[in-house]
Amino acid sequence: MQNEFDKVLKQIEETRRFLNISENIYRQLSAVRRFLEVNIPVIMDTGETRIFKGYRSQYNDARGPFKGGIRFHQNVNEGEVKALSAWMAFKCAVVDIPLGGGKGGIIVNPKELSSGELERLSRGYIRAIAPIIGDRIDIPAPDVNTDGRIMSWMLDEYETIRGHHEAGVITGKPLALGGSKARSYATAQGGFYVIDSAAKKLGIKKGATVAIQGFGNAGRNIALIMEKAGYTIISVSDSKGAILNKKGLKITDVAKYKDEKGMLSGFPKAKDIAPAEQFAEKADIFIPAALENSITENDAKTLKTKLVAELANGPVTPEADAVFAKNNIAVLPDILTNAGGVVVSYFEQVQNAYGYYWEEKEVLEKLEKIMRGAFDEVWKTGSEKKTTLRNAAYIIALSRIAEAMAFRRE
Ligand code: NAD
Repeated sequence: MQNEFDKVLKQIEETRRFLNISENIYRQLSAVRRFLEVNIPVIMDTGETRIFKGYRSQYNDARGPFKGGIRFHQNVNEGEVKALSAWMAFKCAVVDIPLGGGKGGIIVNPKELSSGELERLSRGYIRAIAPIIGDRIDIPAPDVNTDGRIMSWMLDEYETIRGHHEAGVITGKPLALGGSKARSYATAQGGFYVIDSAAKKLGIKKGATVAIQGFGNAGRNIALIMEKAGYTIISVSDSKGAILNKKGLKITDVAKYKDEKGMLSGFPKAKDIAPAEQFAEKADIFIPAALENSITENDAKTLKTKLVAELANGPVTPEADAVFAKNNIAVLPDILTNAGGVVVSYFEQVQNAYGYYWEEKEVLEKLEKIMRGAFDEVWKTGSEKKTTLRNAAYIIALSRIAEAMAFRRE
């Protein structure tokens, strides 16, 4: 299996060409600061105890506490968690919020667990990592297959251990426990501001066609938001299949159908297509919003689009990236495009810290300012250095992290 962290190392190496990072700093950026592996015993409904393996990776905290979600998935592995923790640090730096990078995961297919088992697993994981987290140390949040319900169990377990309230230790909480307005769709909303800014630069007009891979938190919300803003969503997909309507899908109907049937295939006002066909069908904007490495070199060769916007983490393989660069297809990198989630997580922490909560409008205004501002900086850097938007985002992120590290110690 490909080690995802190798991708991170390759990207750092690539970015070094543009930056004056000292050897000492570079050496530190080439490894995670702390990596914890835990074995979590869970009493199953049958009475039997099963052991689940989990991880917490803390990559870099020069700019602020480690920050990053927790993923529940059968394919979670050490390399992936390490890579995701590094991407979090780069993401926070590119949008210039005072946080570092962390990430966690448990090897589990949560769909096979009862609600009680899931609660015991979530609480067990927090008991195992409690010594290394805290609102000024490392702050978890949701990721693939984890949500506000799971964050509530985790917060409650942590506060029970500590014996005091500490809402800011976990973000992505329900509003009733100190969550922020707009957090539930913040990743997609932030992605929208970035994509919309890029579309303007590239001369892509409202009404332009959009294809989206993945229909979970990120994919479904970006589809709803882009449709509302006047874009035409022609195809969407999930792990079971893809659907296409060249005249445009009505996303609220698609979402309702998916909730009822548990899949997209069979949606009456569209054609069922194979996932590969989604790449071959022309769309002005293509948004991967599923999992890593979902766009391979071959997919990139068949993709007919002007703009690829990585709402998922690491969806484009390095080989596919090279194809896009050669074919002059702009790629909005993940560390910029999906940073909206962590920006509103940061807002959530700020609100928790002073116990005063903002209206949704205020959250969205602040988010828009940060995301469009970060896009402009990345675009400008890309133009000045005559390089891809991905390299530009990394130049900004790594120079900020390296600067903070140098001020601390070499
Ligand atoms: P999710 O579990 O809610 O949704 C994932 C979706 O991808 C599901 O619809 C699933 O069916 C689909 N999928 C899986 N395999 C697929 C395939 N081969 N082809 C097409 N679709 C497939 O997860 P999410 O929270 O939406 O996260 C998606 C991506 O966005 C991940 O890379 C995640 O790390 C990233 N991300 C999410 C957030 C967030 O706040 N949710 C923030 C930053 C980054």
